[in-house]
Amino acid sequence: MKKVSIIVPMYNEEEAAPLFFEHIEKVINENKNYEFEIVAVNDGSKDNTLSILLEKQKILPHLVVVDLSRNWGHESAVTAGLKEATGDCLIPIDADLQDPPELIPELLKMWEEGYQVVNAQRGNRKKDSSFKKNTAGIYYKLLNHLSSKVKVPYNVANFRLLDRRVADHVIEMQETSRVFRVQVPFLGFKTGTVLFSREERVKGKSKYNIRSMFNLALSSIVSLTTRPLRWSIGVTVFFSCTFLLSAVTELVLYILALNNIVNISNFGFAIWLIINVMLFIACFMFFVLAVISVYLSQAVEDARRRPTVIVNKVYKK
Ligand code: UDP
Ligand code: MG
Repeated sequence: MKKVSIIVPMYNEEEAAPLFFEHIEKVINENKNYEFEIVAVNDGSKDNTLSILLEKQKILPHLVVVDLSRNWGHESAVTAGLKEATGDCLIPIDADLQDPPELIPELLKMWEEGYQVVNAQRGNRKKDSSFKKNTAGIYYKLLNHLSSKVKVPYNVANFRLLDRRVADHVIEMQETSRVFRVQVPFLGFKTGTVLFSREERVKGKSKYNIRSMFNLALSSIVSLTTRPLRWSIGVTVFFSCTFLLSAVTELVLYILALNNIVNISNFGFAIWLIINVMLFIACFMFFVLAVISVYLSQAVEDARRRPTVIVNKVYKK
């Protein structure tokens, strides 16, 4: 029998946890053709989440509780869960029922059809505030604008199914700043999508404030690409062209003025010369920055130690 690991990070979820277990147990009971394991990660909760989990464990033998040393954040909690899970496929899911456990059979169906990653995509975000909807729109647009090879699917957070093979690659990724929704598309593999409608959080409060949303957005960009570092190359080219155009124009006009063909005062030429010197200094500074950026982006890529290539399968006769 194939084993399915459900990974649920929990931070101060004493109110939502009992409801989560109610729903997930129903799904487990309705899908007896799979063996299930629930890996609940207590991410340094300050409320009774851990004791609720340990109580639950007494009646649910398939519940594994991972207690983190402090609050490490959502992404790290998911990583800890992935590392502990032993299933043939792994499904990270939020505890607040915003990711409906009832969707799990559909994810499994696509997995059985051969998809190695099945994204659960929020088909509508009607229940999200307009602020969250708009910022999410900008976030996904920006990410995909910045990256040409790796496409981050719109409105897919951590709720998705990973085949064991894909999950192992995610676990192997060494980077300390981890953004799951960037790591998975980076790896590739055959990916399917299931749409769902996202409801409101069932109990408790969101653990994400504007600051943590902004931090996640920044980490996502850094995790996805080093392209912004190379913007300095474009700026160098821009300043170089402006400087060349300006300097050549001044020189030509100066020669024409010497021959009395145009009439520009020496004061005018002096001001222009100062502007040209400033443009030249800007060119030089941005050139130095561009050189640093090229090496830095290479160093960042090397430090991440991500796989240079992943082979899905080799076909031989
Ligand atoms: N979470 C976590 N550690 C944190 C913040 C959140 O493990 O530091 C968990 C939280 O308990 C929930 C999931 O991550 O299961 C998503 O959090 P939340 O629902 O607050 O995020 P939102 O849906 O508002 O984006
Ligand atoms: Mg939520």
